[in-house]
Amino acid sequence: MNDRMPIVSFIDVTKTYETQEGPVHAVENITLDVKSGEYLAIVGPSGSGKTTLLNLAGSLDHPSSGTVLFRGQNLAELSRREMAALRRQEIGFVFQTWNLVKGLSALDNIRLPMAFARIPKQEQITRARKLLELVDLADREDHPPDQLSGGQQQRVAIARAIANKPRVLLADEPTGNLDEETAQTIINLLRQLNQTENVTVLCATHDLALASVADRSVQIVEGRLQQDG
Ligand code: ADP
Ligand code: MG
Repeated sequence: MNDRMPIVSFIDVTKTYETQEGPVHAVENITLDVKSGEYLAIVGPSGSGKTTLLNLAGSLDHPSSGTVLFRGQNLAELSRREMAALRRQEIGFVFQTWNLVKGLSALDNIRLPMAFARIPKQEQITRARKLLELVDLADREDHPPDQLSGGQQQRVAIARAIANKPRVLLADEPTGNLDEETAQTIINLLRQLNQTENVTVLCATHDLALASVADRSVQIVEGRLQQDG
């Protein structure tokens, strides 16, 4: 596939939530291409629709109208099974709260998505160790989350997110819970993964340092795209 092809396309996408107070238009008429290999930041204030947009890109949510394409394929036309495979193999998720499994070591947390993808155990371990090196935590493989700092837990979460070599990493305010210095290590790591592992990064943030390392940033306010470029 051509490298400049859009990997995710939003075509006139609107997501409306029905609430007791009436409909909430979380995102409205969004048209946007995320190109293969790029690092795109979505910047906007709290409540502007960033998480909704990422969830739509990752097929965790469905648009009320409009179309979301993943590598040219309409997500609405995928079967449940195809959707699950897509989420398992092609998309990595990183959240503001890293959600590691409490009782499991760093190594085993990273192995989890590979186990779900039925990768042989020895390969899981080999790959998880490589990933721990990549995120500079080789000496912490036996540590469970409660023996890791916030920044270290986020690095494990990122390693876990890329364990199945996804094409796209969806990062939702990945530095939101970190102090400035620790946030910088996460920012550098995402940049590095984008460049060396060729992962497309779609990152929601209001951290300007995080947005400034992106190839491109778009602004979203009250569910609407403000600018593109
Ligand atoms: P952001 O991530 O930029 O803070 P969100 O995408 O989480 O914004 O939310 C956008 C808007 O949609 C907000 O007004 C939020 O309250 C509303 N919203 C999000 N999820 C739901 C939901 N499940 N039900 C009702 N309203 C929602
Ligand atoms: Mg959000």
